[in-house]
Amino acid sequence: NAQERLEMEGLLRRALDQGEFRLHFQPQFRLDGSLSGCEALVRWEQPRMGMIPPGKFIPIAEETGLILPLGNCVLREACRCMAGWIQQGYTGLTMAVNVSSMQFEQDDFVLRVEEALATENLGPHQLELELTESLVMENPRENARRLEALRELGVRIAVDDFGTGYSSLSYLQRLPLDTLKIDQSFVRDIYPDTSHSISSAPIVETIIGLARNLHLSLMAEGVETEAQREFLSNLKCDGMQGYLMGRPMDAAAFGLFLQSATILK
Ligand code: C2E
Ligand code: MG
Ligand code: MG
Repeated sequence: NAQERLEMEGLLRRALDQGEFRLHFQPQFRLDGSLSGCEALVRWEQPRMGMIPPGKFIPIAEETGLILPLGNCVLREACRCMAGWIQQGYTGLTMAVNVSSMQFEQDDFVLRVEEALATENLGPHQLELELTESLVMENPRENARRLEALRELGVRIAVDDFGTGYSSLSYLQRLPLDTLKIDQSFVRDIYPDTSHSISSAPIVETIIGLARNLHLSLMAEGVETEAQREFLSNLKCDGMQGYLMGRPMDAAAFGLFLQSATILK
């Protein structure tokens, strides 16, 4: 296993040099069905092994520190793509980018974000950073300053995988957060028939109410069925993302997708 990790680390280093990483983009929608933006999801096409899912290589990139150069590449590329689409006239969209804890904790993280926005010519309001609930809540006091700095830049902050960790409710209220992304495990287990003992419907309903009362926007991810969409719509969930409405796609496919999407100006 240690051998495997070591090999993987070597492959990751090479992949960074050779530019084997690509971004895919998954559309995000508002309650009214209009497109609000997309989430950038990194993909690794390894020449010998084929497509390696991020769940496999991100943890190793984090352990080895390679997440720093990789994360910066992802941030740059995501900003570049969104700036391009905006230039084509698709204004008003937001690009969501996942950020690892090691990245966020770098002293120059805010500077890196500023640089990416300036270099790629993207407005700060058009960027949303996704931080996991465990990252945000592990050191809320220490994170507050950095979050404030990002907020001052104008960048939006989303809490990813919300509901799987342990959130302090008072920090949820105090930290400068914009969006809660309810974890897909809750969306998957919605059974509108509430007598179903393992249905997550009551939890989803509670989280939507929590977000609304704290003036946070709520994004549901992993929406796969019409029944899930209907349930979330009825509760007036602000945003939705999932295979039902659109899978992650490469930049060219997303460009085509934009041509037929409903986009509010
Ligand atoms: P995440 O940020 O929570 O992203 C959502 C994951 O759910 C993505 O998996 C997406 O493809 C998948 N998904 C979207 N809609 C559906 C659906 O309807 N059903 C199901 N079953 N799945 C759906 P993916 O691309 O494999 O990424 C997995 C995780 O890897 C991400 O979870 C994120 O934590 C991490 N990740 C991906 N790209 C990056 C990146 O650029 N940087 C960092 N730090 N992490 C990344
Ligand atoms: Mg995410
Ligand atoms: Mg998530």
